[in-house]
Amino acid sequence: MTIRFGHYLAAAALLAFLPAAAYAATDEQKKDAYAIVEKNTQTINDIADSIYYFAEMGMQETESTKLLKDTMEAAGFKVEMGGAGMPTNFWASYGSGHPYIVIETEIDALPGGSQTPLEFEHKPLIPGAPGHMEGHNTHGGVATAAAFAVKQVMDKYHLPGTIALNFGPAEEEIASRPFIVKSGAFKDVDAAIYLHIGENFTTGWGLQNYAAIGVQFAFHGKSSHAAVDPWDGKNALDALELMDNGVAFLRQQMEPTYRIHRSIMNGGIQPNVIPDFTKIWYFVRDATMPKARATYDKLLNIAKGADLMTGTTHDVIYQASAWPALSNKAMAQVVLKNYTAVGLPKWSDEEQKFARDFQKAEDKPVIGLATTLPDVGSRPQSTASNDSGDISWVVPAVVYTFPASVPGIPYHNWVAAVTPTSTIAHKGEIAGAKALAGSVLDFMTSPDVLKAAHDEFDQATKTTPYFSLVPDGQQPDIDLDKDIMAQYRPAMSKFYLHKTPRYN
Ligand SMILES: [Zn+2]
Repeated sequence: MTIRFGHYLAAAALLAFLPAAAYAATDEQKKDAYAIVEKNTQTINDIADSIYYFAEMGMQETESTKLLKDTMEAAGFKVEMGGAGMPTNFWASYGSGHPYIVIETEIDALPGGSQTPLEFEHKPLIPGAPGHMEGHNTHGGVATAAAFAVKQVMDKYHLPGTIALNFGPAEEEIASRPFIVKSGAFKDVDAAIYLHIGENFTTGWGLQNYAAIGVQFAFHGKSSHAAVDPWDGKNALDALELMDNGVAFLRQQMEPTYRIHRSIMNGGIQPNVIPDFTKIWYFVRDATMPKARATYDKLLNIAKGADLMTGTTHDVIYQASAWPALSNKAMAQVVLKNYTAVGLPKWSDEEQKFARDFQKAEDKPVIGLATTLPDVGSRPQSTASNDSGDISWVVPAVVYTFPASVPGIPYHNWVAAVTPTSTIAHKGEIAGAKALAGSVLDFMTSPDVLKAAHDEFDQATKTTPYFSLVPDGQQPDIDLDKDIMAQYRPAMSKFYLHKTPRYN
């Protein structure tokens, strides 16, 4: 932290010698950025639509990142793949030194989300295949466009610093960012913007969502005939059930903010064999990571108790974790100004009618597409989790959503895969890229904003210092979702768009 702030001061000192025009993002610079985004509309939409049809699940984003790598290298960025031990971890950068601003987002799809675009009925392109039922495909277009526009403005106005872009793998399984943070990728970064599709331009400050820890307990016992000599067995299913009962009894002693949910991965094979192996997977969540961690520690003890009662042993398998996203107020205020400057897309009558018909078909409030920016202020803390949260505890960060979804249509449901290649999404991508480029330019040229952001960050992290949940030596699960993609990719590849998007 101290080191990074030192870099920032050095950058500020350097900036002091530059002409005033280079000291804060001017209207002229932003107009240039907007024009670059607009000029590249087709490229942006092509990137987003291509990724929609790749529809790759976590850690398997090979086609998506190949397209992004080719595009950004052709645009003059240096692209590094494979950071933190994950082949689909994408990091592109341009420029050098400070200020160092990173746009971070993701491009993974969800299982069973395949859908024919623009159809209100459930018509998968390929039954059972993954699909973009949260619109992460749009992130590819918006993030690359903003980074490219910033690069062009940096060149034209000789702005010092570095713009970088990180597509982290497997956001849906909160499986990569804790590893990326642990690898030190953000240690020299001055500020980060976390980009996500939404129904409107929104940002906020304070805790945005929940902490989560995913952990599996695998119990090992001893098999025996369940009728002939059960006394010779050590029942791994009993251990699992006793553990889950222990967790159930714990629930009454929990603070109201907690969440615990679980899935039994392996409960034995058939009743006449005392099982020697079972596995249960928990998600422990809470409003803060220290509270989630305290509950997690209780689960570790409950598992030991289950062993004592049954004579089994067990393994604790770290599966995933996410700190709640801490969004920075000083940065959010800059983002809000950029939302206002760009404004919402001008929706056509057809688009508004489509949205209303869709909302009606899904039994949601028939309100059409967003036409006014939301009220300014802090957003209520969501009980969902996103592993980009970890980044926000090692560098000042702000959440940023752009209007590319139909209001009320729920994510993680095939219905949300209806519009991510529509003109609604396309217009949202352009508006999203403009306000994102403007925000990044403001951060790159406003030492006072970065200082305020760092002061605020220091205060928050002094109260709650970051700790990593990733056990030492733990490797990311890069085979995650490999089998699903192997099963469906051949059929999915028939829908690939075969575009070669290029920025200019
Ligand atoms: Zn998402």
